[in-house]
Amino acid sequence: MADFTENVEKVAGGKTNVVMDATILTALMTCPRKADFNFNLHLQPVKGKSNSLECGSIVHKFLEYFYKAQIQGLDRVKAAPFGFAAAELYIKGCPACTEFVPTEEIKKPECGHPPNEYPGLKNTPKDSEGHIIGWQYALDSCDEYTKRWYNDSWVPLEVEVVKGEVLYEDDEIRILWKAKLDWVGDTNDGIFPMDHKTMKQNRLTNSMNNQFMGQCIIMRTRKVWINKFGWQKTLKPEEKFIRAPVNYTAERLIEWQSETLPYWAKMMIMFNESGHFPPNFSNCEGKYGNCLFYEHVCSNNPDMRETELKNHFYVGPEWNPTNDEE
Ligand SMILES: [Zn+2]
Repeated sequence: MADFTENVEKVAGGKTNVVMDATILTALMTCPRKADFNFNLHLQPVKGKSNSLECGSIVHKFLEYFYKAQIQGLDRVKAAPFGFAAAELYIKGCPACTEFVPTEEIKKPECGHPPNEYPGLKNTPKDSEGHIIGWQYALDSCDEYTKRWYNDSWVPLEVEVVKGEVLYEDDEIRILWKAKLDWVGDTNDGIFPMDHKTMKQNRLTNSMNNQFMGQCIIMRTRKVWINKFGWQKTLKPEEKFIRAPVNYTAERLIEWQSETLPYWAKMMIMFNESGHFPPNFSNCEGKYGNCLFYEHVCSNNPDMRETELKNHFYVGPEWNPTNDEE
């Protein structure tokens, strides 16, 4: 999927088709102006992802290939090196697929990876320093994780899979929802989705979460598991690597599907048609510091913003739900 504008398509009879995923929906709820910058203009910060996001991506890469190798039939001990190889390539970066631009003659990078799968690190040193997590510690934590879950009885069935389904339709719109699932497996209690979350402290998970509700509906469950991956140096493995369920009632899921989702899809169409994406002042300050657009763009005079955008952001690849994002 490309940007909002291309996600919105008028079909015969005047109905509008909309493609949405949790990243775009949450971005719209957070701040429509930021959503426009990220998903219509494809602006990415020049300084790269934050250290937390980079370390989260290392872990996601590790888990993706660790579980993929198990799905292909390897046991956990033999699967781990596949996870580490992918994590190490994420750290080092693959020059062939990074910033690859397809041409008529060369449509895919020679390494065979999807473009930008292995961009390398910009804000993560080898060794941890104060609040900065080092990549060596990230790799060591992955090793600790495999030991913590050595006797895991859950069976992975799919990893990093995108599933799509029409979740809403009325006279005006039809919404195709795309859910990206980190992990789907048999937990001995049924087949459930699980989402990997790296965290510096064990926070309670907010269940008002578009990603989780969308995953439940697509998977026809009322529970998602959070695979918590803690960075705390002082905790034992069984205290920082925890699986916690998020449960929903059928009514909450129906409310999300039949009210929340179509409301925001219609708002998105309206923003697109008017070309105006209003800022939301409540979300300039985040858990991990200010929104980058606040610092460089919104808090500047309107006539300065275009220059500031050019100085601090570049036009990155188009968003699609398989792109990595925490
Ligand atoms: Zn590559």
